[in-house]
Amino acid sequence: MNIIDIINKKRELKILNEEEILYFINAYVNNEIKDYQASALLMAICLNGMTDEEVFYLTKAMLNSGDIFDYAKVNSVKIDKHSTGGVGDKTTLVVAPLVASCGLVVPKMSGRGLGHTGGTIDKLESIKGFNVNLSNDDFIKQLNEIGLAITTSSFNFVPADKKLYALRDVTGTVASIPLIASSIMSKKLAGNADKIVLDVKVGDGAFLKNKEEAVKLAELMIKIGHNFNKEVIALITNMDYPLGNSIGNGLEVREAIETLKGNNHNNFKDLCLEIASQMVSIGKNINIEEAREEVITNLNNGKAYNKFRELIDYQGGEIDNIIISNKVIEYKALRSGYLNHIKTLDLGKYVMELGAGRQTKEDIIDYGVGVILHVNCGDYINEGDVIATIYYNKDYKALDDIFIIEDELKEPLPLIYEIIK
Ligand code: URA
Repeated sequence: MNIIDIINKKRELKILNEEEILYFINAYVNNEIKDYQASALLMAICLNGMTDEEVFYLTKAMLNSGDIFDYAKVNSVKIDKHSTGGVGDKTTLVVAPLVASCGLVVPKMSGRGLGHTGGTIDKLESIKGFNVNLSNDDFIKQLNEIGLAITTSSFNFVPADKKLYALRDVTGTVASIPLIASSIMSKKLAGNADKIVLDVKVGDGAFLKNKEEAVKLAELMIKIGHNFNKEVIALITNMDYPLGNSIGNGLEVREAIETLKGNNHNNFKDLCLEIASQMVSIGKNINIEEAREEVITNLNNGKAYNKFRELIDYQGGEIDNIIISNKVIEYKALRSGYLNHIKTLDLGKYVMELGAGRQTKEDIIDYGVGVILHVNCGDYINEGDVIATIYYNKDYKALDDIFIIEDELKEPLPLIYEIIK
């Protein structure tokens, strides 16, 4: 088999067969195919798409490029979640302990930030001492003891995605439905939970910009899950405004803690409650109203927060020692009016440039920097009001052109567009 023939075939809009896709993945992982050849094929896939069958073969080949996690020693139902990535998206930090406090096992193998989107592992590393590298044995032990563990994957976890994602990140080939679906689902299937809830983000701050594309992605990932006998549901959620009020690693951990303590009431809390309710509903096979009641009760009675504390203790973190910069500057509104839009992608990039994210894989993150928003879309603002606080370390620039303030109020967009089963 020959990679040039495969690239030509995809360029000519022909359908690749299982052997060709398997050959591409295996030969690329084994360094027999060069990055420039893989990039050409990825771009052809981006432009010409893939049939559902091609995506199943791609997912299967990627999944089998590494090991599949073995939970033989964990008896309860294991439930996982995944977000396609957004700005201020720290839902795992609240949802995972909340669902575990309801008696389900939540094994989370999480990743680091990509581009303008944050990653759970980077956020947790802003807690002094927190160990994000559990061994397989410690991961299993912790799941059995407290029902919750969050780690980077220590075993041979989808090496094909590791290599392909790094390449896609620098070749403009991230925003492709077949490539996103196979990337996410190969990792979820290797993580091997029994049931999976997906948060598919759509809007300015997400990889997918329109709802039709997000629905297509969600439906495809659900089909892939069913093909591998996993129950999967997907929420289509809004990323046209940031999630919650904090963006930046340490600041987001602090917002998550305040949410778990019941001190936070915003779109972030609402989304956490919905995702957790969906997880508890499919995890326990109960109806959504019953699940929601259990979730809200455990948030209000402190059980979810106690589970979070347990998680931090087990993994060696100091809950009162979160890295947050003490250099702050206030940003004031330049005019009066209604806040109709926050340019979410630009805000994500702004926070990344403050040092909270990586521009290259080698960059070292500054956990303490970020932005706190003091306003939400739909609020009326007076000129001179403090609308954000910038936490910086080295340099910062003004947040101009991020906040769209207008005379007429526009109806704020919904938080959750659709739930697909
Ligand atoms: N998240 C992933 O894990 N993979 C993608 O391709 C996009 C978002």
